[in-house]
Amino acid sequence: MPIAYLHHNDCLLHDMGFGHPERPARISAIEDQLRASQLLDFVRYYDAPLATRRQLARVHHLKYIDQVLEFSKKEGHAYLDPDTIITPQTPTAALRAAGAVVQAAELVIASKHQMAFCNIRPPGHHALPNRAMGFCFFNNIAVGVAHVLEEYGLTRIAILDFDVHHGNGTEEMFRDDPRVLLCSTFQHPFYPHCGAGVISDHIINVPLPAGTTGDKFREAVILHWLPALHKFSPQMIFISAGFDAHDDDDISQFHLHANDYAWVTKEILLVADKYANGRIISVLEGGYDLHALGRSVAAHLKVLMRMV
Ligand SMILES: [Zn+2]
Repeated sequence: MPIAYLHHNDCLLHDMGFGHPERPARISAIEDQLRASQLLDFVRYYDAPLATRRQLARVHHLKYIDQVLEFSKKEGHAYLDPDTIITPQTPTAALRAAGAVVQAAELVIASKHQMAFCNIRPPGHHALPNRAMGFCFFNNIAVGVAHVLEEYGLTRIAILDFDVHHGNGTEEMFRDDPRVLLCSTFQHPFYPHCGAGVISDHIINVPLPAGTTGDKFREAVILHWLPALHKFSPQMIFISAGFDAHDDDDISQFHLHANDYAWVTKEILLVADKYANGRIISVLEGGYDLHALGRSVAAHLKVLMRMV
């Protein structure tokens, strides 16, 4: 069964300006690397639909959703935070990004695909219920998870976040929902400067210091994520797949490599096979060095495609 690959060219229209690391070229760099690695032959391509207001409203405030959507009728740009710039093209890109995860979830629930990868931007895991933050507008993965919880009645969903930044938005949305196990590793102290002190049996935050290598990352996953996952026995797994902890990515001070992403993906796959009928939905978050991003996503997908 091929993996579902969700994307839309509207995701390329959102442009926060010259020199901004979260840029349209990220999406093309991934697709170019997948093509060069001949991995695109093993995916089924889907054009991501627009998320609906109702789907977004499960995790975002209506007033905030409308504030973002209204920008499509405006001109110029505005700063929603010091790093997060909205333009008239942003709402459509953000709706496609969230819509991709909803459709991925439906394809996997319907057993049309066992797994899906959403090559989308803007990313989502910093987006809060009522505001944009850290390059994120709508919390794509949270919109998809909330859709599955509400429409299909699943009661145990795991979100695994290996982006180098803490997914504070996702945590805020599911902090009081024990149906969701959120496991995260992130650089700390670092943006967004939270997550280290959270104590909860369904929020497994593992702050790691600047300089963290692949060995220390793997140790954190083995010691903290895997026991929690085996205890929780998820019915479905979503991955906040950020690749900005890569050694070549200047945005962080972590030193992961493509083989570390392959390793963690394999560990996730083993859990998914044991408890979740192999159901995994991977959603792009960060990753700003174009070559490292392309190579890391290729390594990640090769494992999901069961080629290694
Ligand atoms: Zn990040």
